[in-house]
Amino acid sequence: MHPGNAVFLSGLKMDKEKFNHDAAYIRDILAKSQDLQVLNLPEITALLDIRGRDIWSEVFEAAGRVKEKVFGKRIVLFAPLYLSNECTNDCLYCGFRMGNKDAVRKTLTVDEAVEEAKLLSGRGYKRLLLVASEHSRLTGVDYFEKMANAIYSETDIRILHMNAAPMSVDDFKRLKACGIGVYQCFQETYHIPSYRYLHPSGSKADYAWRLGVMDRAVEAGFEDIGMGVLFGLYNWRWEVAASIAHSRRLLNKYGFGPHTFSVPRLQPAQGSKLDNKKNRVSDEDLKKIVAIYRLALPHVGVVISTREPSGLRDELLTIGASQISAGSKTSPFGYIRDGDTEQFEVGDTRSLEEVIGKIADLGLMPSLCTACYREGRSGETFKELAQNEEMKKFCNENALLSLKEYIEDSAPDHLKKQLKELLKKEIAVSSNGLVAKIKAIEEGERDVHI
Ligand code: SAM
Ligand code: SF4
Repeated sequence: MHPGNAVFLSGLKMDKEKFNHDAAYIRDILAKSQDLQVLNLPEITALLDIRGRDIWSEVFEAAGRVKEKVFGKRIVLFAPLYLSNECTNDCLYCGFRMGNKDAVRKTLTVDEAVEEAKLLSGRGYKRLLLVASEHSRLTGVDYFEKMANAIYSETDIRILHMNAAPMSVDDFKRLKACGIGVYQCFQETYHIPSYRYLHPSGSKADYAWRLGVMDRAVEAGFEDIGMGVLFGLYNWRWEVAASIAHSRRLLNKYGFGPHTFSVPRLQPAQGSKLDNKKNRVSDEDLKKIVAIYRLALPHVGVVISTREPSGLRDELLTIGASQISAGSKTSPFGYIRDGDTEQFEVGDTRSLEEVIGKIADLGLMPSLCTACYREGRSGETFKELAQNEEMKKFCNENALLSLKEYIEDSAPDHLKKQLKELLKKEIAVSSNGLVAKIKAIEEGERDVHI
């Protein structure tokens, strides 16, 4: 295990006796968070220990305000593109695990991946998250390289992120070179005995190899890394403290921590060997998790997947979440046809257009922007801009430009009217240069951004 990792884990104790903080102390922490400062571990454990409902509603409001200060009203949208469900690991909770003998297995060919990416770009998506199970022979770095090169050269997709098994520094360098934006990997659980039980075989059984993955990705040149745990495997309060401690270690070492935190919650899956009840995370708990991540690390994007039901997802957008997937399928080739085994059940089945309409209804701004990764606003630069409240200028303007493209190219007629009104209102209070850029899009220019 990386020595730094061993230190942050050994320091994590959730001693109930110590955490009985009064409301005044919590309000001091909320006030500090409004200055967009990273919170320390005693402050985070105090938030994790709040018991009163009234104080929680103040925490949710504070988190919503922090999100607006950093990213403005924009909510970024994306879709996962599942490349393979053939896996040599046996994670007890996952439909793709090797021991699921009922699984119908599939690994996409280059042509199939391009076909799916084209379908998604036709619907309006510009950013996709490539997702794959772990199989060194079928889906090693050569495979990802081929997929990324083909999707970039043959479709209008502008940025590919990736959620895949931990790799070596040399393999990460190759992925970086072919234009992968964010490398994402979830620790699943930081709790070592639970991790060992849940990952009995295959390369994922090596806890230390997974814990060190972000260091290797950064060493290879990735400045945007996506972290998370799978909530429902162990005590969520402990996991939140551990993941923030891990992030703070990266922040201290490299000058930047995670670009995003995902908050996946355990879902039913075909062939799962896990009883989901013991460490179940309620909807209310998930709201607390999102709010604490937002307050603890204000510059970090918080990502909500379609694992969650629609009503809860809408609510999470007002208390700190900043990115959301939509219209997702979790089986390889699932956008073109159903049939192969999905990883888990999806909770929100709304299409991209429905989610865009709902975000606009909530008074927020749907965004299909992909600018920062391609303009070098990553890592420490991104963190500084976000903490100085300068990022939201880019986010708001680019969201509007991406919406204009969506209206021109993909939006269904009923949504066009709603989005045009939103644009008109926002343009009236935006910078002078925006009108010219909107006109350029009307005249056929694409990928207009700042
Ligand atoms: N196979 C790679 C790995 O395990 O890191 C990456 C892709 S895996 C398909 C993406 C994530 O899905 C896993 O890291 C895990 O957190 C999540 N996942 C697996 N089974 C799940 C379930 N039943 N419910 C919700 N999320 C699940
Ligand atoms: Fe394979 Fe990833 Fe599923 Fe584990 S979580 S069985 S590694 S796809």
